[in-house]
Amino acid sequence: MNSYFLQSALLSTGWQLNVRVTVEGGVFQSIEPNAKKQAGDQDLKHVIPALPNVHSHVFQRAMAGLSEYKGSGQDSFWSWRDLMYRLANELDAESLYQVARDCYAEMRQAGYASVCEFHYVHRNKDNPDDFSTYSEVILKAAADVGLPITFLPVLYAFAGVGELPLNPEQKRFELSVDEYVELFQHLQGKLSKKQQLGICFHSIRAVSKDQMQAVLDVLPSDVPVHIHIAEQQAEIDQAIEQLGKRPVAWLFDNFDVNEHWSLVHATHLDDTEVKLIAESGAVVVICPLTEANLGDGIFPMPEFKALNGNWAIGSDSHIEIKPQQELKMLEYSQRLRYQQRNICCDVSQPHVGTWMWLQALFGGQQASGLGGIEIRKGGYAQVLELYSNDVSKQAEEVLDDWIFSDRTTAVAKTL
Ligand SMILES: [Zn+2]
Repeated sequence: MNSYFLQSALLSTGWQLNVRVTVEGGVFQSIEPNAKKQAGDQDLKHVIPALPNVHSHVFQRAMAGLSEYKGSGQDSFWSWRDLMYRLANELDAESLYQVARDCYAEMRQAGYASVCEFHYVHRNKDNPDDFSTYSEVILKAAADVGLPITFLPVLYAFAGVGELPLNPEQKRFELSVDEYVELFQHLQGKLSKKQQLGICFHSIRAVSKDQMQAVLDVLPSDVPVHIHIAEQQAEIDQAIEQLGKRPVAWLFDNFDVNEHWSLVHATHLDDTEVKLIAESGAVVVICPLTEANLGDGIFPMPEFKALNGNWAIGSDSHIEIKPQQELKMLEYSQRLRYQQRNICCDVSQPHVGTWMWLQALFGGQQASGLGGIEIRKGGYAQVLELYSNDVSKQAEEVLDDWIFSDRTTAVAKTL
């Protein structure tokens, strides 16, 4: 049993001073705020829990920074996607394992506690009949690095809304509903400690209503369900044309979207859709750096926050793997859009850094279906220790300083 004396700690109820914790086997055994330091306690400064990373396409780390140049014509999400498809089609099991292992190690070092892996490169380059090896490779990479994972095998069947046939470069992503269920059930027997499965539909562009329903009818109803939605304006236009509805409105019309669901991006929403999501208890997974990098748009946070909507963050394409940068981008994009300051906070928690960290923690645990990422008895002791040279700063100020000014140092630790 190890014991620590924390100058301050961010618990789920907010900051507490002089917190004594004991840890055994990487799990908190006791948390005592306003405590006295005891002999043998190791001193720590300001401590925050690591954050769940709720949206990852791990192989895309291999192209981070390599698409920042002008191609022919107007570059966009869609031209970036062509490059991404080229990379996806070059991957073999060995290269996928290496990029996943390195990327997950970076996540741990950056202060992520866990990952939700949204995996759609199913078919083995060397044997297209094999659609499970790549999933197993990713589970192994996460286990080897010690990063808890919610693995989300993706159902992917069409190239666009209206059941458009897949393009050749999308063929390795394709699964039938029967193959999807077979993969899911096969992976249930392959999970190691701190690994679990969720259901995943690529998007309403890539999966039909009947396919989604068929999967939901057969697989467990209490696991996370993730879907990309309303990321790009073109998807909104296609949905209105083909389905007569905006994507989120269509989803709610056709499915019982509840607290098990995570809507990834949900960038382009009207007021009715904002309300539908917030009231359903579903989590919006915002990926601020990727959304900025791809020119997706800006999530309507003030409207969503006013209805107490749940949200989390994901590093998605892994253009950068730093939770503090995701949160800074989120807050700054809101400031630029609304021409105001200090948007991601509220009266009960006026410090932007603290409000965002806790919201992303709660939403992230819900979306990943993983409890125990908080600093509490029974929680995983995955934390970040923040050091500031300015000893007069309060803990809230140190966290804000790390996110916005980068003068504070943060070190990820397993206690
Ligand atoms: Zn994505």
